[in-house]
Amino acid sequence: MAITKTKFINYVRCPRYVTLDGIKKSALLDDMDIYEYMKEEEIEKRDELISHLIDEEGNDLIDVTDKQLNTMMPYYNEVELLAGSIASKYFDGSFKYSKTTYNQESFDAIINNSRYICYVDIYNENDDGINIIECKATTTNKYLNLSYKGKSIFAKDEKGIYRLLEELNIDDYMPSKTYDKLKEKLFDKYSPAGHYVYDLAVQRFIIENDLKQNGDDRKVNYYLGVLNSEYVFDGKYENGKPVYDEINGEEIISFIDLTSVTEKLMDKIDLESKMVSGYINDFHDDIVPLGVWCEKNKTHKCKFCPVCFDRVPSKNSIFSYMDSHHGFKKNNVKYTDYDLVNEGKVGILDIDESYLTRYKNVIQRRSVESGKPYIDVDKIKDGLDTIKYPVYHLDFETFPCPLPRYRGERPYTQSVFQFSLHIEKEPGVCDNDKDHFGFLSKDHLDRREELIKYMCDLIGDGTVIVYNESFEKTRIKELSLIFPKYRDKLLKINDQIFDLMNIVKTKTKMYEKLGYDKDRAKLINYYHPSMDGSYSIKKVLPVFSSLTYQGMEVANGVDAMITYASFPKLNDKEFKHRYQKLVEYCKQDTYAMYKVLEGLRKCVK
Ligand code: SF4
Repeated sequence: MAITKTKFINYVRCPRYVTLDGIKKSALLDDMDIYEYMKEEEIEKRDELISHLIDEEGNDLIDVTDKQLNTMMPYYNEVELLAGSIASKYFDGSFKYSKTTYNQESFDAIINNSRYICYVDIYNENDDGINIIECKATTTNKYLNLSYKGKSIFAKDEKGIYRLLEELNIDDYMPSKTYDKLKEKLFDKYSPAGHYVYDLAVQRFIIENDLKQNGDDRKVNYYLGVLNSEYVFDGKYENGKPVYDEINGEEIISFIDLTSVTEKLMDKIDLESKMVSGYINDFHDDIVPLGVWCEKNKTHKCKFCPVCFDRVPSKNSIFSYMDSHHGFKKNNVKYTDYDLVNEGKVGILDIDESYLTRYKNVIQRRSVESGKPYIDVDKIKDGLDTIKYPVYHLDFETFPCPLPRYRGERPYTQSVFQFSLHIEKEPGVCDNDKDHFGFLSKDHLDRREELIKYMCDLIGDGTVIVYNESFEKTRIKELSLIFPKYRDKLLKINDQIFDLMNIVKTKTKMYEKLGYDKDRAKLINYYHPSMDGSYSIKKVLPVFSSLTYQGMEVANGVDAMITYASFPKLNDKEFKHRYQKLVEYCKQDTYAMYKVLEGLRKCVK
C-alpha cells in the first residue's frame, strides 16, 4: 500500500479517519497494487459523475449503488479519451494517456516517511517542459461562474486555454477586491471550484517530490481538462455516434491553467502531509469534532459519516433547521450548526428559541415541540384561489449526459426523455389511471419532437402545475429554442406554469401581489415536523397522502435516469420489466402532486 491522492485527501480530513481506516504505518512504505489503485480511481470518478446527477445542496442525497454507477462509467471514459485527443491541438510534443491506469504516466516519492503514488490522466512532454492534465467530468461553468457582472476571473488566452485574468494582464473586468474575493474560492477545497483545484494540487505535490528526488528540474505546468459548457452540439453523427468537431471555435473539452494557483497550495499540503504522518504515528479513536471536512451532504462525503454522525438524530437534528448553514446567534455570539453539534446540541429542541434568528426556524421548532403542523390558512386559501381549472400536473424526467447526445445540447444538458401528465378536470376530480398520460422514450434515439408534440396536444387552457418550477420552465424554454416549430405553444405552456411549492412553502412576490405585506409574504405557509426541514415532494407527499415511494423498484430520480441509461443494454424481457417500473415511478410523481394539492385544499377547508 502507499498513499494515493484519494487516500491523502481522506487522511487529511481528521485524525480519526486514519484510525477508523486501520492504516498501518509499515504498510505505507510498500508499493501499491495497481488493481487497488484503479478501484480507488474509479470510485472517485463515479463520485464526480454522480455529483452532476443529484442536487448536492438538497437534503435528499441518495446513496447510489455500484450497479447504478457502472451504467454511467462508459460516458466518463469517453470524456477522458476525448480530452486526450483534443489536448494535442493545444500542446506540442508527445503524449501519454489511456483509458486504463496501466498505461498512464506514474510518479512516486517518499515524503515524510511515507510512500506517495499518483497516475496522470494526460502527460505531455515537449521542449518547454512537462504539462500535466487532470481530466474531470465537470464543466467550465464551475470556473466561469466565479464572475462579476457576467465576466469571469478566467478568460481564454490566444491559444484558447483558460487562465486567470492577472496572467493575461486584464485588470479592467472587475474591481480588484471583487477579483481577489472570487479567486479566494479556488483555495477553498470545500467549494465546487476549489474541490478540483485541491485535487490537482495534491497531484502536483507528489509529482514535484518525485521530480526533485530524481534530480529532474524541468518546468511543469498543471491543467484541468473539463467539459466546455459553451459547446453546443450540432447533431453530426458518424455510424450512429455523435462527432464532437470544433464548432464556432469551441472544442468540447476546455483546458484551465492552474499552475500558479496550485503552486500557492504547496506549503499547505506539505504541512498537511506532516500532519497525516502524525495521525499515522499516533493512532487515536477519540471522538473528534464534526465539521465541513466530513462533507456529509456531498457525494464524496467521508465514508465514516455513519459512524461519527451516530450521535446526531437522523430526523429533526440541528441540520434540519432550514438554512442552518447560515448559523445561529445567542447573546451576540455566532454559532455554526457544527459548533452546536460539537457542543452536544444535536436535536432541534436542544437549543431554545433565543438562538434562532430566522422566524421560519422558530416555526419549525414550535412544530416539532408540539408535534402539530403550522398552517397559514389565509395564504394557502388565497394561493389555491389563483389556480384555474383544468389543472395539468406535469413532470419531466431527464438525463444529464456528460456528452451531449442530440442537436442543440451542451455537456450535462438535462435531456428530456419522459413526461408524465395527470389532468384534474375540476377540483378533486382526477383518476390515477384514466386521467394519466405520458411519454417515455424506448431507446436512446432523439425522441424529443415526438415528446413535445404529444405534450402540446394534451395541454389546453388552464393551469400547468409543477413542483419546483425553475426545472420544468428551463427545459421547456430550451426545447422551444431547439424546436422553433413548437415555440409559441411551448412558451404558452410556460406562461401557464404554476409552482405548487409556492403554496406549500411560499413565493414572496406572488403573495405581495395578493396583498400581503413583505414579512408575511416571505414567511412559509406550511410546515409539518415530519418534513425534517425539506420541501422536496418526497418529504411533503407523506404529510398529505398515504401514497409512498417506498418499495418501488424505481424509487427516485437517480434510479429513473440510470434505468433509462441502461435501456440499450437490456434484453427484451428485462427491458419490458424496467420500462414498466419506470412508467410507474413517473406516473406516481404527477399523481403525488395531485395528492398534495388535494391535501392542501382539505387542510384549509
Ligand atoms: S466522518 Fe468526519 S469526524 Fe468522522 S472520520 Fe470522517 S471526517 Fe473524521
